[in-house]
Amino acid sequence: MTFLERTYVVAVVQGVMLTFGRLLRNFTLHLLHLLGFAKSTPATVSIQYPNERRVYPARYRGRHRLTLDQSGDIKCTSCFLCATACPARCIYIEAAEHDDGRVEKFPHRYEIDTLLCIYCGYCVEACPVDAIRMDTGLHPEVYAPDPRLFIEDKETLMQRSRLLEDLGPEALYQQHMKKMQDLEKFPFN
Ligand code: SF4
Ligand code: SF4
Repeated sequence: MTFLERTYVVAVVQGVMLTFGRLLRNFTLHLLHLLGFAKSTPATVSIQYPNERRVYPARYRGRHRLTLDQSGDIKCTSCFLCATACPARCIYIEAAEHDDGRVEKFPHRYEIDTLLCIYCGYCVEACPVDAIRMDTGLHPEVYAPDPRLFIEDKETLMQRSRLLEDLGPEALYQQHMKKMQDLEKFPFN
């Protein structure tokens, strides 16, 4: 580095100029927007979540759901492949024998600890029967401050499939947004 570069003065001045340049630009644009001008030029890129939303791509990995077959039963065959593939070791399964002789086993217990989950999607990739998906488009759930509440059980994961089917992805997302807005207004309820 040259002597000037080693003093970092130029870099610091450049950084400050850049920051204040952006600040001035956004301030001017917001002012113009308020007066009804330059509406087509966006100002800041901040999304005011949960009051505004960004449209996610179709491959967004959202909250998990356990898929159901046509009769509404769980598709999972308790093969443990998802739990084996999971790098966070946050899927807990207990297999049980099924009453139907044609079905070898089913998950008596299926839980995901969403506090440990890193939303990598490996469980979905590993499943041979499409029994687990992350296509709900929902953010990770916010529960009361008790770690046990963040463990989503089989019924919760199955219910999410039913809700997605009954309401559709948009209504499900609106429900989620409403919950987040309520949480923002009344965080201690
Ligand atoms: S998304 Fe990744 S970390 Fe989360 S349960 Fe699936 S495999 Fe485990
Ligand atoms: S969700 Fe899929 S991979 Fe996981 S235990 Fe069930 S069938 Fe196997």
